[in-house]
Amino acid sequence: MVLDDLGSSLRGSLDQLRGKSRLDEEDVEDIVKEIQRSLLQADVSVDLVMDLSEDIRQRALDEEPPGGTSARDHVLRIVYEELVDLVGESTDLPLEDQTIMLAGLQGSGKTTTAAKMAWWFSKKGLRPGVIQTDTFRPGAYDQAKQMAERAEVDFYGEPDNDNPVEIAEHGMEELSDVDVLIVDTAGRHALEETLIDELEQIESVVEPDRNLLVLDAAIGQGAKEQADRFDGAVGIDGVAITKLDGTAKGGGALAAVDRTDSSIAFLGTGEEVQDIERFEPDGFISRLLG
Ligand code: GDP
Repeated sequence: MVLDDLGSSLRGSLDQLRGKSRLDEEDVEDIVKEIQRSLLQADVSVDLVMDLSEDIRQRALDEEPPGGTSARDHVLRIVYEELVDLVGESTDLPLEDQTIMLAGLQGSGKTTTAAKMAWWFSKKGLRPGVIQTDTFRPGAYDQAKQMAERAEVDFYGEPDNDNPVEIAEHGMEELSDVDVLIVDTAGRHALEETLIDELEQIESVVEPDRNLLVLDAAIGQGAKEQADRFDGAVGIDGVAITKLDGTAKGGGALAAVDRTDSSIAFLGTGEEVQDIERFEPDGFISRLLG
């Protein structure tokens, strides 16, 4: 189980339970404290950490360990189940024709993620294409085009048109043959009304099957507000967390998952098109606690 390679202090607390058949409040509190420390360090919001702590406390003390189960294994099981509940299952992504729109602030990693996702779908045997509608950030067109070339996927963009909605319309026509259409959108430095308006207009043209919010792993408290605004505007079905190859653990993004009642779809782990992983709870939990 993933919890077997936990952070050493948590393992220490758990190891103190070896040989015990019952847990007392102090045992549970030690474990909860260690988990809290790791999760807060990983930028998980205080609210989520407190809810999780309370659930672990209650279950660890109220639930009888099944016959033959040691106190240590019992609490380990509860901690694991609650952590899986916290991070959620990965976003359902059927391998079929679909349109996916990406939303997020500038610099979060949308353009990179669009190409990576296209690469990922192509490896699954589908034909993806990327439409680049970011007319706001200088260089976005060239970057998107180059990355699409590296991913060897279809691409549509218009370097001389500053109307993203028009580009989206043309892109839909030009890339009508692809299976999976990934629509990259412009960000802004902050949550401005123009960004939200533009996103809504692009959405009404491309009619995406799902919208993913792209968040930098280093996001902290800002995740909630971003999640609320983007979810309110276009509806968020999943989150992509980028830059997990850095020091940030990405726990801040869990607040966005919670607010949008969605889940995590992809993890970005580098700058190249291949540096993408499908989210899976065990690996992410290890990373959060590690
Ligand atoms: P956008 O403004 O949201 O389209 O963001 P970009 O896709 O241009 O990404 C912003 C910067 O972050 C670029 O320099 C990317 O190369 C970098 N970046 C994106 N994803 C990752 C990642 O997973 N790991 C690393 N190390 N860098 C990333």
